[in-house]
Amino acid sequence: MHSNQPEISDETDRKVVLITGASSGIGEAVARRLAREGHHVVAGGRRIERLQSIAGRTAESASRSGGTFHPVRLDVTDRADVNAFVEGAVERAGRVDVFVNNAGIMPLSRLDSLLVDEWDQMIDVNVRGLLYGIAATLPHFTAQGRGHFVTIASIGAHQVVPTGAVYSGTKYAAWAITEGLRQESDPAIRITTISPGVVVSELANSITESGAAEAMRTYRAHAIGPDVIARAVSYALAQPADVDVNEIVVRPTRQR
Ligand code: NDP
Repeated sequence: MHSNQPEISDETDRKVVLITGASSGIGEAVARRLAREGHHVVAGGRRIERLQSIAGRTAESASRSGGTFHPVRLDVTDRADVNAFVEGAVERAGRVDVFVNNAGIMPLSRLDSLLVDEWDQMIDVNVRGLLYGIAATLPHFTAQGRGHFVTIASIGAHQVVPTGAVYSGTKYAAWAITEGLRQESDPAIRITTISPGVVVSELANSITESGAAEAMRTYRAHAIGPDVIARAVSYALAQPADVDVNEIVVRPTRQR
């Protein structure tokens, strides 16, 4: 039930943070850390039961610092869903301070495998989903005169390896779109791109091509924990309002 009064007061150090793909891996770690740090987190993903379970496990540590964790069912490939995600948060909290574009999939394969449906899915989630998040949030940031976009790109936004052509294509696109957003935006809107190296998560589970899956098992042997990326997000958010952390690359020391 909603009254006209937002449930969350206008405290600048406690941010209203929307995170896509918060049901596992990096997004879950970011959502949990920020809620524990006292922020008001709206956590989106398709697997609502998992989000509700994470919310249950995070509630106590979040409430100790005044933070909250609100799970919302979200499919980033559905523009109406993304709009409802943002509008619901604005209705509840009165504003949106940070939008973390994190949802992503990585079904790696060689181009000659012609897994065209998987190419489409990557483009839909990693590129269209990112754009829908920007489209739904940017008008609020412009009206508020402040806001912060965080894009979780990838090392794959900086280099291409065999089986990674389409995935890297989507991550180069995510990097370029976010950089274009930075150049065009009102200076009061902050823009951060974070490019993780290999991080423990469920990301490689979407690979269906056996050769790519096997190569990933070796490649991912030195993966670092997802909270490392959550700390990078926290760092970017915690800077003074006139400081814009634009780019962070975080990878395992053993990843070349
Ligand atoms: P996970 O697979 O653990 O998490 C991916 C998240 O994206 C899940 O919460 C999933 O939620 C969500 N998601 C997928 N499709 C959709 C959709 N259509 N709508 C909404 N949410 C969706 O992987 P990671 O945590 O590793 O991935 C997070 C981001 O980090 C991705 O953008 C990935 O490319 C990037 N990254 C990861 C690296 C790594 O090594 N782990 C390295 C570099 C970048 P649900 O299924 O519930 O919808």
